[in-house]
Amino acid sequence: MKIGVDIGGSHIAIAVVDTKGKIIEKIEKRFTSRERKNFKKSIEEYITEHANQLMQEYHITEMGIAMPGWSENGVILFGGNLDLKGYPIIERLQEKVNLPIKIRNDAKCAAIAENAYGCLKGYDRSIFLTLGTGIGGAAFIDNQLLTAGIRPGYEFGHMVIQRNGISCNCGRRGCFERYASMKVFKDNLRNALNLDETASGEELLEIIRRNNSENRNYEAIENVISEYIENLSTGILNLINIFEPKIIGIGGSFVYFEDVLLERLKEKVGREDIKIETAILGNDAGMIGAVL
Ligand SMILES: [Zn+2]
Repeated sequence: MKIGVDIGGSHIAIAVVDTKGKIIEKIEKRFTSRERKNFKKSIEEYITEHANQLMQEYHITEMGIAMPGWSENGVILFGGNLDLKGYPIIERLQEKVNLPIKIRNDAKCAAIAENAYGCLKGYDRSIFLTLGTGIGGAAFIDNQLLTAGIRPGYEFGHMVIQRNGISCNCGRRGCFERYASMKVFKDNLRNALNLDETASGEELLEIIRRNNSENRNYEAIENVISEYIENLSTGILNLINIFEPKIIGIGGSFVYFEDVLLERLKEKVGREDIKIETAILGNDAGMIGAVL
């Protein structure tokens, strides 16, 4: 058995994963603002305590860590939204946890897990998109994850779909994720309905489900959805032209909106020979993929 760890900006999760990709035991928590200020120490303490505890209960052979950004030889070169540049995470943890430890980009981990045990299982050519705050991506050909060296590569979220479009934190304009991430979709919906940040994803989903032509916001909601589907399908059709996958898996918070978005997306993409399905491993995918 192996230990999988998933590190995000606000939470951390650690789990025992068996050889079939099943989670046997999982522990997780949200960081307090004080812990976030001392992030490296918080990560080290949490992983050390729980990994050593789990090693007493289970026969553990390895630990894998999923986190944003990229690293080389166990040193983080870019931490995405985490301020961890230059942090030798593996060396630090190996002082306290007696296991081989590996680290990999979290979006890639989720895709690897979905490919092995989830929605992409059984297909030899596939694409995975994580639609959340941004857009993460991965591609598999002959069942192998395509890689690009130290950097994760296959950053489909930063493919430009609108020249001179909305500026992106990568430095360019018009990136796919500035139009088709779930954050953008939810923000556009809130704007159209004059709702503030406190309107949760669940509330927005309920509003869409209840929407009908007698609703005074009917058209505003419809416009946001059709524009979103248009943008999402533009990016997906670009990817189809490059990879010709047999299936496209979609993870992230898009999964919760499946019943109001997925059929419309399939129709707009218009390729009945290519399956489009949502991820099935949920938040566990990062930990499962980290140990594969
Ligand atoms: Zn970008």
